Amino acid sequence: MTIPGTLDNHIGGREVAARGGERIEKFDPHSGRLQSRIASSAAADVDDEVQAAKAAQPGWADMPAVQRGQILHRIANVMEAKTDELGAVVAAETGKSLKEGRGEVGAAVQCARFFAGEGQRLFGRTIPSGTPGKLNLTVRTPAGVAGLIIAANTPIANVAWKVFPALICGNGVVLKAAEDTPFTASWTARAALEAGLPAGVLNVVHGLGAEAGEPLVLHDEVDVVSFTGSTRVGRRLAELAGARLKKISLELGGKNPFVVMDDADLDKAVRWAVLSAFSNAGQRCAAGSRIILHAPIYDRFAERLVAATRALTLGNGDNDDLGPVINARQLANMLAAVEAAKGRGARVLAGGGRAEAQGLAEGYYMTPTILDQVDPSDEISRTELFGPVTCLYRADGFDHAIQLANAVPYGLTACIHTRSFDRGLTFCARARAGVTVINAGTHGSEAHMPFGGLGLSGNGTREPGTEALDVYSELKNIALNVDATQV
Ligand code: NAD
Repeated sequence: MTIPGTLDNHIGGREVAARGGERIEKFDPHSGRLQSRIASSAAADVDDEVQAAKAAQPGWADMPAVQRGQILHRIANVMEAKTDELGAVVAAETGKSLKEGRGEVGAAVQCARFFAGEGQRLFGRTIPSGTPGKLNLTVRTPAGVAGLIIAANTPIANVAWKVFPALICGNGVVLKAAEDTPFTASWTARAALEAGLPAGVLNVVHGLGAEAGEPLVLHDEVDVVSFTGSTRVGRRLAELAGARLKKISLELGGKNPFVVMDDADLDKAVRWAVLSAFSNAGQRCAAGSRIILHAPIYDRFAERLVAATRALTLGNGDNDDLGPVINARQLANMLAAVEAAKGRGARVLAGGGRAEAQGLAEGYYMTPTILDQVDPSDEISRTELFGPVTCLYRADGFDHAIQLANAVPYGLTACIHTRSFDRGLTFCARARAGVTVINAGTHGSEAHMPFGGLGLSGNGTREPGTEALDVYSELKNIALNVDATQV
């Protein structure tokens, strides 16, 4: 069976039940059936994990970074060789197609390889001094124990984006898996062990956020925290970390604008709008959840977008366009948000409800939904939903489009479709976002590119890319003083 019926924590290379013996039920998003019963961990379990990471970390840090990179390459090789197996785990836990699961594994392998290579490039600087005979160097040293907390939306990519940079920098790691995709994280820890990662360097704790995640942030021996998840939880963790002067990296939500101007290639723009809004069932921090249309093409574009959206097929097959959302709570949240927006005057152009078709009705499927007649200041315009729901807005001109694009407290990604070089680059300069795109989707980054956002989308850090090394290492300045009279 792809997913084990029960799942324990991974501590020091062994599978260990939570001390309290309690379990959380995890359901299959496609069928709504019970899939697994996972360890429900608490502070004492987190402490066991942290102690295992702390014990293993010095040996790992002593290994030259180039050799650590060779182990990361071996982990990448195991993941690649078992793409079908891991892709099936991702698919089963999320309700995505096997094709998407395998694609995600490919991205995670790329990430492992990039950070493996960074082991050969943990560059520092040499800095001239005003003092005669003095030379300053910077070197990267491990932070110590890294506490990583991730979301479920792209489970193996989320594991890879945090675990591999943390490892190459020489840290011991405790990974708090997303409770909706627990086995993807445990699978990776087992594969890493098989590939030669010393036991205890990578540990996985399962459980609910407040019970198993918070103790990781609060733990005195966790030196750096990296969190991918909602802005609500990120803000709380920033407060906890801030009170302890603990380094924390926050990769949070988005409400990303997708702008289409009157000079755009409309066929291309429709294709990208559909992908931006509905791929991964809209469960992307970079989802195009606000589609801003230049007035002259509003009606034409809306009509084509609605037709393309209605043609999408739901299901977990390789030919389907989108799968379910991750759990029943998420589905209920989105249905409620759409109903509330309708009550405030929103018009439903497509979707708007739960999928009722045979084979889908038991799962957490929502029909891809387009709303218009929504005020830019309405709650649905300003709050991330994290599902297949997007809203249309009318812009009178370029400046108005930018104003609408920037009218939310988030600032993760922003995209414009235009044939004009001047409009495209001016948009990139003025859009308040960490990632800006011309003529494609509100898509995320690749493993070697920095990703992160402004405002409620993060706290200024960038992961992955070389910039992730700044999160997981401490820069040390070494001063060499040469006394020429002693030669
Ligand atoms: P969430 O914040 O509810 O949960 C994310 C993780 O945090 C889970 O592992 C959860 O168990 C844990 N958690 C929850 N409460 C916690 C607490 N009090 N203390 C410690 N840990 C806690 O988010 P979600 O709904 O599962 O995920 C969706 C969110 O993630 C969206 O907002 C999305 O935009 C964001 N996301 C951001 C990025 C990015 O790179 N910026 C990428 C993917 C997802």
